[in-house]
Amino acid sequence: MLRFLGRRSAFYEEQNNAYFMDGDRIVFIDCAMYGFHVIRKTGLEELAKAAGSAQDIREIAVLVTHTHGDHVGGIPMLIHYAYYIMKKYVTVVVPSGELRDEMNFLLEKLEGCDLGAYRVITVEETDYDWLKAAIPTDHAPGLAGKCFGYQLELGGKNVLYTGDTNTIEPFLPYLTNGSVLYTEVSAYDVPVHLYVEKLLVQADFFKERQTEIYLMHMDDEETILEKTRAAGFKPAPLYHG
Ligand SMILES: [Zn+2]
Ligand SMILES: [Zn+2]
Repeated sequence: MLRFLGRRSAFYEEQNNAYFMDGDRIVFIDCAMYGFHVIRKTGLEELAKAAGSAQDIREIAVLVTHTHGDHVGGIPMLIHYAYYIMKKYVTVVVPSGELRDEMNFLLEKLEGCDLGAYRVITVEETDYDWLKAAIPTDHAPGLAGKCFGYQLELGGKNVLYTGDTNTIEPFLPYLTNGSVLYTEVSAYDVPVHLYVEKLLVQADFFKERQTEIYLMHMDDEETILEKTRAAGFKPAPLYHG
């Protein structure tokens, strides 16, 4: 399933960054600058091995949830590095046409990425059979209408990934029996993140549906894990175990 380069929130060093293997393609969900450095230092092949794959990697894909720096800050550097050093092509997948235009502006105009090094496409333009839906959610007012989570199908399982969100509500209709939910969670009750108590009130709903829950994008990890242990929630698995 998913592995994580980091599972902490924006102000911590080990910023949230998931990945998985799709045949000879490695797919990152967002790419923070921290994530870029983990990729550079660890190498794609080692990351593939950590995810249980022995395949050579032909292509890199990055699935974007929203444009905060702790989610897209490493993408331009990854493209430069993939092009000049790793000799790999990068496909950036965004959830809407508006985000495609904004991402193109960043990569082409501000970062000057080589146009032969990457492409930006929307979810609708992909032919990835594991990519089921982009799910709009509420996160930060400054990015209203531009924050998304995803529904994926991985290893025969229905997988939900919230991205940054202040509510779990938009994801509940997608929770079929036996789903795997990767959700952001916050120890502090702030308007832009999902306060741990708001997640815990759904514990029975999750249990009835036999949902497997992994926590990510954590601020105070210790407090969160302590509060959620009895409910059976687990921390998102890091690539190095
Ligand atoms: Zn974030
Ligand atoms: Zn954010």
